Formats: sequence, C-alpha cells, structure tokens
Amino acid sequence: MNSNTAADELVLCPHCDLLQYLPPLAPGEEAHCLRCQHQLDARQHNPVMRPALYAASALLMLVLANLFPFVSMAIAGNRSEIHFFDTSAVLFTEYQQVLAILIWLFIQAVPAFCMLAVIYLKVGMRYRLPARIWVARVLYMLKPWSMVDIFLMGLLISFVKLVATAEISLGMSFWAFCLFCLLHLRTFQVLDRHALWASIAPAPQPDKKISAGSTGLDQQLKLCHCCTAVLPLQQRHCSRCHTRVTSRLPASIQKTLALLVTACVLYIPANILPIMRTVSFGEVIDSTIISGFILMWQDGEYPVAIIIFLASVVIPIVKIVVMFWLCYLATTSKQAGGKRSGNVYRLVDWVGRWSMVDVLVVAFMAALVRFGLLASVYPGIAAVLFAAVVITTMLAAVSFDPRLLWDKQEQTTDQPFQYRAEGSTT
Ligand SMILES: [Zn+2]
Ligand SMILES: [Zn+2]
Repeated sequence: MNSNTAADELVLCPHCDLLQYLPPLAPGEEAHCLRCQHQLDARQHNPVMRPALYAASALLMLVLANLFPFVSMAIAGNRSEIHFFDTSAVLFTEYQQVLAILIWLFIQAVPAFCMLAVIYLKVGMRYRLPARIWVARVLYMLKPWSMVDIFLMGLLISFVKLVATAEISLGMSFWAFCLFCLLHLRTFQVLDRHALWASIAPAPQPDKKISAGSTGLDQQLKLCHCCTAVLPLQQRHCSRCHTRVTSRLPASIQKTLALLVTACVLYIPANILPIMRTVSFGEVIDSTIISGFILMWQDGEYPVAIIIFLASVVIPIVKIVVMFWLCYLATTSKQAGGKRSGNVYRLVDWVGRWSMVDVLVVAFMAALVRFGLLASVYPGIAAVLFAAVVITTMLAAVSFDPRLLWDKQEQTTDQPFQYRAEGSTT
C-alpha cells in the first residue's frame, strides 16, 4: 500500500490502467507511471499567462503569414508568387476539393482553432467564460490533426526539389509561418492539461476506500480519457466533462482491425496511381510515390530521398504491421504487456502523422509551380488516396486501447508503487 497524504490525488494511467496517487508537483516537475513510464502529469511555470501569450503570438504570426507574399519562383524569365492561403485555394479551383479542404483543415483551420481555444480557456480561468468544457474537449481531440510542423518539413523538401530548376525567393509570410510553427509547438509544450481541467472543475474523487498499486478494473474504477477524472465503473458519463466513459474502448480491436484493413486496401492504389503530374517544357511525366523517390535518389538528393522514402513507404508499412501485431498480442498472448509493446505503440502513434509530408509537398508544389506548358505540377489521385491511408492509420491508433496489452498480464501488486518526481526538460 502506498503512503499518501490528503493532498495526493488519485490517478489512473491511461496506458496501463494502474491506479496511483499523484503527489503535489512543483513547477517544472513531471510524474511518470511506475509501470509503463507514461507521463501522467507535468507542472508548468506560470500555467495561465505563458500558454495564453504563446498562443496569441502564434495567432498573430498566422495572420501575418496570410497577409504577405509567401514564396515566389522564377523560371526562364517567368515569375509566380503565392500567398500561404493559395496552398489550399489553388487546389480547390483545380477540382481537387477533397485534398484542398484536408490541407486547409490541417494547416490553417485546426491550428488556428487550437490557438484560439488555448486563449479562450486561459482567459476563461479568470472570467468563468461559458462552454469551456466543450472547448477543452475539442482542443484535445483536434491536437494531433494540426500538421503545421509537417507542412514546414514539406516546404523544405519542395525547395530542394525546385531549387535545381528554378529560382526560389522567400517572402515575409514564410518567416512569419516559421515563427508560427515554433510558437504553436511551444504553446502545447507549456499547456498544463491537469491544471486546465482543474480550473474548469475539481476532479471528482471516488468516495470508497481505494488501494493504489492495483488496476482500475480491480478497484471498480475507470478513467475519463477526456479530462483524466477517475470514476466508478458503473457511471456512464463523466461528472466533470460529461463525456461518455467506458472502462475499455468499446470494440477496440475490431475497429482497429477494420481501419487497418481499409488502410491496406487504399495503400495499393496509392502506390500504383500517380501522386503528381509534372509538365516540363511540354513534356508530361506522371510520377508515383516510388518513382518520385527514385528520381530524387538519381539526382543525388539523398537526404530528401531518404526522408520521402521513410515517410511515405517505411512509416505507413511499419505502422500497419505493428498495429496488426499489437492487436494480435492484445487478443492472444498471455504476456502481452510490458514496457516494450507499450513503447512501440506510443512510437507508431507519434510518428504516423509524419507520413502526410509527401501529400503536403505535392499540394504546395501544385500551388507554386504554375507556368502552363513551361513547368507545372498537378496533384494526382494518389495524393487523396495516400492522405486517406495516413488518416485511417491515425484513426486506427486512436481506436486501439493500449490497456488491453496489460490486462492479461499477471498482477504484481506485491511491489509497492512509489512515485518519483523529476525535473522537467521543457
Ligand atoms: Zn502506466
Ligand atoms: Zn471527464
């Protein structure tokens, strides 16, 4: 049994379901689950002002990124200049509406909403603004779909591809966009999820006697995935954030498998059909993901070729195979748990969204390279299919419940689970 003080708060690890007491943390400290090392909580210095100021600065940079010329390109005396907004707008006018809307959501709408939501929630802490529960729920749901960091990587790859044939100049908005990426990243780093929910309403605490060190299921408790509250097993909706709460994600394996099979089916045409059509001095070349990689390799652009190959071929395949393997472990093996499979799950979940980089490269180049027969780039059908592969694999990772990996493992409650607080690196 743990020794705990009145100030200690009961928490359930979302990855392994271990019930633990969280001691009060000082600013800069973080607490990790003793069984799976998942970060349970991190305290930030000045948790109200810092995220609000970073988010406000990020929003200002996003506005500036839309006001001025973004990138211009000159080829054989012709010059074309685009604004940041054109990255999705040009695709929309070119009858690639699905791709245009996805790109607009990933690089403009979702990031802007997230920054506005952070400001609203932080200001709302002081002034008790309405609908904060709804805003916080949507904020954490949308966070992985903000892909500005991946778009920045896509821009750098596009420049390497274009610089051999054309003269590229970077506008004011490009630098504003770089700053926006950094500030957006920093906002999420300094955002204190625990403090945020505690400011909306105090965490409900179970009224019965609890023995920490066993699993939530053993103690008839379950976790609210949205606000991290610990709730009795029979309660259907969270008393703090009103989300529907289940002890394990319902039909997790079935949903994950269905999404993985969909991703496999989409992956085949995404690789066979052209992702990009390039017109160069009247000559039309359709390129697939693989042929694009081979071309970059032959041109000697090895770092970019390797990034494209990793993001578009290795990561999706590895992610699909690993997710199938985790589903197999969760349903059959007696020794499925352990840090290794949990760590592998966290890694593929984190790295999966980077596969979107090739789609963003195509979208950006299609917006920028518009010189008719002299030189033009058009997105192919595979760009939409490949975006669908990345989205379905991301959804597969979301619908997989990592606690299933630990459920079959034998209990080790004879070992006392003690907390360690360590200095934060952020
Ligand atoms: Zn854990
Ligand atoms: Zn909740």
